[in-house]
Amino acid sequence: MKVGVLALQGDVPEHTSAVAAVVGPGRARTVRRVEDLAEVDALVLPGGESTVIAALLEETGLWAALGQRLAAGFPVLGTCAGLILLARELEPSPGGRDPPTLGALDVRVRRNEYGTQRDSFESAIEVEGVPGGPFPGVFIRAPRIVRVGPGVRVLARRGEEIVGVQQGRVMGLTFHPELSGDPRVLERFVQEAQRPRSPKATTASAAAKRAAPARTASR
Ligand code: GLN
Repeated sequence: MKVGVLALQGDVPEHTSAVAAVVGPGRARTVRRVEDLAEVDALVLPGGESTVIAALLEETGLWAALGQRLAAGFPVLGTCAGLILLARELEPSPGGRDPPTLGALDVRVRRNEYGTQRDSFESAIEVEGVPGGPFPGVFIRAPRIVRVGPGVRVLARRGEEIVGVQQGRVMGLTFHPELSGDPRVLERFVQEAQRPRSPKATTASAAAKRAAPARTASR
């Protein structure tokens, strides 16, 4: 299975190496163009600046192409800014500009919940289906998941807080698994991506289908 890392902006090298460590170097690909997207079986949307990534996705035509693939049950992992882009709904940032979203995960997200880059932190989290004890969660200008829809499974928690979700084959994390030096969460994503499509995938893809043409809904 070839796993792509969206390489328009953000922590692309870190994520590409972490993915390569899980699937093998020849199977980790960077995705910059629509043609690259067609070559991969799953995609990681890395952390970065969601407004910038959204603008570049539109500019490259990848927004529409990704929306189409999501509607067909494409496995995607969004971390941090990637989660923001996958969300159904964003809480409007105070005085800020928010990106459009793809709507593949029925969650409401508040951006920059924990302050600036300086307020980044590491914290132990529990991840469902990841054996071997707590996972070291790295949080950098992390968003917060403030509402989870009925079709969404909670995957990871930091105490009471929801820090990871899954809907069909789409996963969203508020933390950065690629920066922890621990491959378990990426391994779990790859395992899920290799599974045949479940009926739940239809829920996520239906959401993506509805949200893709009406991108302005979350502006
Ligand atoms: N705060 C960033 C945003 O809203 C996300 C931060 C990150 O990806 N580490 O896009």
